[in-house]
Amino acid sequence: MNKGKKIYEGKAKILYETQDPNVLIQYFKDDATAFNAKKKGTIQNKGILNNKMSEVLFGYLEKNGVPTHFKERISEREMVVRKLKIFPVEVVIRNVVAGSLAKRLGLEEGMKLQKPILEFFYKSDPLDDPMISETAPIAFGWMTDSEMETLKKLTWKINDLLVTFFHQRGIQLVDYKLEYGKDASGNMYLADEISPDGCRLWEIATGEKLDKDRFRRDLGKIEESYQKVCDLICS
Ligand code: ADP
Ligand code: UDP
Repeated sequence: MNKGKKIYEGKAKILYETQDPNVLIQYFKDDATAFNAKKKGTIQNKGILNNKMSEVLFGYLEKNGVPTHFKERISEREMVVRKLKIFPVEVVIRNVVAGSLAKRLGLEEGMKLQKPILEFFYKSDPLDDPMISETAPIAFGWMTDSEMETLKKLTWKINDLLVTFFHQRGIQLVDYKLEYGKDASGNMYLADEISPDGCRLWEIATGEKLDKDRFRRDLGKIEESYQKVCDLICS
């Protein structure tokens, strides 16, 4: 699989064309950003670890019937993925109160929820990813009613699978962000990455944060925490 033209460079990853028009190479960088890129830095080896962790998590989801864009990891920092048209929507699932939900509602981080919460945000850097309602993606013509139904069904299934997977490895899956897209035939797939960049992961035994909050909140031991998650889930 040869890397062709760079088609997109984002904050954490680069996408390259390949000889196959339906397939891209996703390259993972060490660059880290937070607060819509107002805070910038580097997390040593993050790209390698996130590539590996995404491989494991996409592989696990695929094995359990979730269609994902992941095809194959081809190097330390690169994976081959299906080329998709990404819905401009960030899907956030919360199992425990944290982050912007705690702030918005004046709640204590760590508060348990009776049921997971599903939230939607419009993927727009200039607008700081504003929160939108569940009906907005349909109202704006980004997806059909039935695509939204499929997306929600997949998301609840993914949450059950991931909560169990992390729990078995001593990690609480607090909250995380997913992205979905469609291929040229209109089939929907889970896309992007699944890693401590986009998930809050708390070690069950100690309560220690093992995710990007260590970078956002200057908690130190960032690389060590990503490595710890990788060691726990990749072995
Ligand atoms: P950002 O765009 O927020 O800076 P990244 O640096 O992670 O984020 O860039 C990766 C980009 O690639 C994201 O915008 C994401 O929506 C997009 N993407 C992820 N998977 C695919 C895919 N399979 N096909 C096309 N685009 C994808
Ligand atoms: N998240 C993300 N990208 C975003 C916004 C959120 O990956 O652009 C993830 C974040 O890492 C967390 C979850 O989604 O695991 C919920 O984020 P929240 O709304 O609490 O926002 P934050 O306080 O992290 O900015």
